[in-house]
Amino acid sequence: VSDDRMAQRRRSWWGWGWEDQAIQGDELAGLAAVLAERFQRPPATVVDPVEPASIELPRPRVELPAALAHLGSADPLDRVRHGHGAAFRELVRALYGDVPRVPDLVVRPTSAADVARVLGWCTDARVACVPWGGGTSVVGGVTPPEGPCVSLDLERLDAVLEVDEVSLAAHLQGGLMGPAIERALEPSGLTFRHFPQSWEFSTLGGWIVTRAGGHFATGPTHIDDLVEAIGAETPTGRWDSRRLPASGAGPSPDRWLLGSEGTLGVVTDAWVRLQRRPRSRAQATVAFPSLVAGLGAVRAIVQDGLAPANARLLDPVEAALAGAAPPDGDATVLVLGFEAPEAPLDAPMARALELIGDHGGVVRDGPSFRRGDRTGTAQGGAGAWRQAFLRGPYLRDAVARLGGVAETFETATTWDRAAALVSDLRDTAERAARSVCGDALVAVRTTHAYVDGVAPYVTVIAPGPEGVAAGPARGRAQAAAWDEVKQAVSEAIDAAGATITHHHAVGRDHRPWYDRQRPDPFARALRSARRELDPAGVLGQGLLVDRVADPATSAPPTDPERRDPTA
Ligand SMILES: Cc1cc2nc3c(=O)[nH]c(=O)nc-3n(C[C@H](O)[C@H](O)[C@H](O)COP(=O)(O)OP(=O)(O)OC[C@H]3O[C@@H](n4cnc5c(N)ncnc54)[C@H](O)[C@@H]3O)c2cc1C
Repeated sequence: VSDDRMAQRRRSWWGWGWEDQAIQGDELAGLAAVLAERFQRPPATVVDPVEPASIELPRPRVELPAALAHLGSADPLDRVRHGHGAAFRELVRALYGDVPRVPDLVVRPTSAADVARVLGWCTDARVACVPWGGGTSVVGGVTPPEGPCVSLDLERLDAVLEVDEVSLAAHLQGGLMGPAIERALEPSGLTFRHFPQSWEFSTLGGWIVTRAGGHFATGPTHIDDLVEAIGAETPTGRWDSRRLPASGAGPSPDRWLLGSEGTLGVVTDAWVRLQRRPRSRAQATVAFPSLVAGLGAVRAIVQDGLAPANARLLDPVEAALAGAAPPDGDATVLVLGFEAPEAPLDAPMARALELIGDHGGVVRDGPSFRRGDRTGTAQGGAGAWRQAFLRGPYLRDAVARLGGVAETFETATTWDRAAALVSDLRDTAERAARSVCGDALVAVRTTHAYVDGVAPYVTVIAPGPEGVAAGPARGRAQAAAWDEVKQAVSEAIDAAGATITHHHAVGRDHRPWYDRQRPDPFARALRSARRELDPAGVLGQGLLVDRVADPATSAPPTDPERRDPTA
């Protein structure tokens, strides 16, 4: 895309990504027809998003002091955009102009010192502060709490401060988004190589505090392993850890901030580990007679010491949705890929295919080998899968506009329980979605593979509740339908002893199950840490642990701080 066109591009205010990339026109009509046929319903009428200027907002309840006034914005569209994140429940309501809470102001600091000053003012004035990276939280992490509140948008903390080509590390500000990081590193032949699906619109600070997962299947792909040191502002002082390749000195300060979801401080910058850009790539697409056989092969591959960049196992529905298999196929498909800076990949690919053969896998495409800098040149099943991966978020918006429900959930478990969990989750999601929406399409894939376990990821597409006229009530009904499915699958995840999230974070939506998952003494320690760092409780209201001890911590949420404020 040319610079001119880039300059004119507009972000969607209610849904995902660029407005010019949205599914519309014939493509949207085609999708409506496909869903109508699949769900045996008349084609849905397309709903257009309301004009954001028509949304009535309460007057701002707070005013910044003169010294900070230049950082604040009370612009209505700015406030509306910062009133919701990217969970289906939020975007389907925003589509109809139903944004129940907006921040009083959006504040854009230009330096760490500004962040400290804003936190100081929030503390004195008792104003809640919601750090905002890209607003791509899918778990209600950026939903404004009740009461006076500012959204602390970190987009101006977007500098690459230093690149250390000796140690292969870079010092980056927390508001940098994925493309800007990679553009800055390209001349040195280095890459951060952290590519969550939301990469284009999410930030380094957001990744760190949500423990984001990149799209590579193995190796250092969780942000946890890519961070060398973190700098943050807390309401009671600056937090800087030391740059170290590894350390045995007590509990890790970085690990405290990783996953802290904005409750302990605002990440202003971090030193991150870099890699040389891969120039050697290999790929193959394989079919298995069953998901269980495919899981066996992926386990054999990682337990043999191989570290494929891609090892996504797609069940037949997912493979068809992604265009990696014919629509009526019944094979489970493995999209397998290896990457290295320069090394030839024939040997690891050959060994992986041998293990795949042992588990009944049959090669459909490849193996093929490429050299060169260009990414995104995958062919066959891998190419189709990559395109579908990039279009997925736009598809979710389109289904919302057609009155349907489309959302994903994810988890991780050990190999001994993997096959049973996947089958249980598929059945539970399908049963719940059919009972609420009358029909459902449930697609399962695995995203990450470890020596001791795997991360399953499930997409649910359903026709949505019938008989509700288009308008805010329809948006609420679509959101409520998903909430029922989410409740059922979250209970199933918890009952199986799996994690409530592998990489989407806890936010508001996962709180009840996170509360059961984490040890109680840990919750007490975290609560104390919050009180120590943020005595006025301005950060992260309603997230991770309540500031006031709830003696029955494993009970369903009753504390008003924890309840979903938008319900
Ligand atoms: C289409 C789509 C695809 C996605 N794919 C992935 C994926 O592949 N992998 C993955 O891990 N996640 C994924 N996500 C979820 C989301 O992108 C991640 O959680 C991401 O890390 C959030 O980053 P952000 O900058 O948008 O943070 P935000 O959404 O703005 O904030 C998330 C949380 O972090 C806090 N926060 C943000 N910045 C800071 C900071 N600098 N300091 C302190 N607190 C802060 C916020 O207050 C909030 O609690 C996806 C989301 C969408 C919508």
